[in-house]
Amino acid sequence: MHSHALQLQNITVSYARIPALHHISFEVCCGQCVALLGPNGAGKTTLLKTLAGLVERESGTIHFHGREVRGATPDIAYLPQRGQIDWDFPTTVRGLVEMGRYLRLGWWRTYGEKDKLAVDSAIAAMNLESLQERQISALSGGQQQRAFLARALAQEAHVLLLDEPFTGLDKPSQDNLKLTLRQLRGQGKLLIVSHHDLASVREIFDRVVLLNGELIAAGETAGVFTEENIHRTYETRVFAAVDHGVAI
Ligand code: ATP
Repeated sequence: MHSHALQLQNITVSYARIPALHHISFEVCCGQCVALLGPNGAGKTTLLKTLAGLVERESGTIHFHGREVRGATPDIAYLPQRGQIDWDFPTTVRGLVEMGRYLRLGWWRTYGEKDKLAVDSAIAAMNLESLQERQISALSGGQQQRAFLARALAQEAHVLLLDEPFTGLDKPSQDNLKLTLRQLRGQGKLLIVSHHDLASVREIFDRVVLLNGELIAAGETAGVFTEENIHRTYETRVFAAVDHGVAI
């Protein structure tokens, strides 16, 4: 196994005994920007939450850098969908980024100069210096996104899981986010991004994972993001039934 790989083997996750993910296995590596694609309800969020240790799996194993991952680890940061975040939570941008740092502190170590520098550098990397004392409720969508990315950087996460980060952003913020993803990939981060806009996949992502409850395909965008695989991913049983004239 590649030493900087994130490897999923036979992951099955169910909600109230109804499987949302069936026997998912694939491997991705640091320095890749991976699109997680599939129709509504395909299990994209469930897969990201499983990797973040926020959802319990029924079976399967996850390895990162050759070590088994059980539960949450600061190496893997999850950035929720915008709608899932309580933007009224009273914290400044700086306060939010500091939270990422606290995840790295053991109970025996207090917040010190090294942590302050890590927070400063994460804020600078995301161009948030002038906004650091602003409440997160008073940020634009793109700025909120950057604030959460800065938190992940302060946490020194190697794997960044982004749940539909492009949704609801205006064009300049989308362009800015594309650039940021490219920079983070260049720094060797592994980015796994759930995404809905098929037209921009080739431009942004070098790898794709096509999901519809089960894994349809995973690999390099050029080889895997084909019309046939896209069709297999997005056709649902309902559509198939309609296509064949079956009454449902
Ligand atoms: P979308 O693109 O709509 O965000 P998704 O691909 O992220 O969808 P998930 O949110 O992971 O899909 O959902 C996968 C399946 O699991 C769906 O059938 C959904 O209804 C179900 N599900 C998700 N969360 C829960 C939950 N907390 N309890 C019960 N079922 C759930």
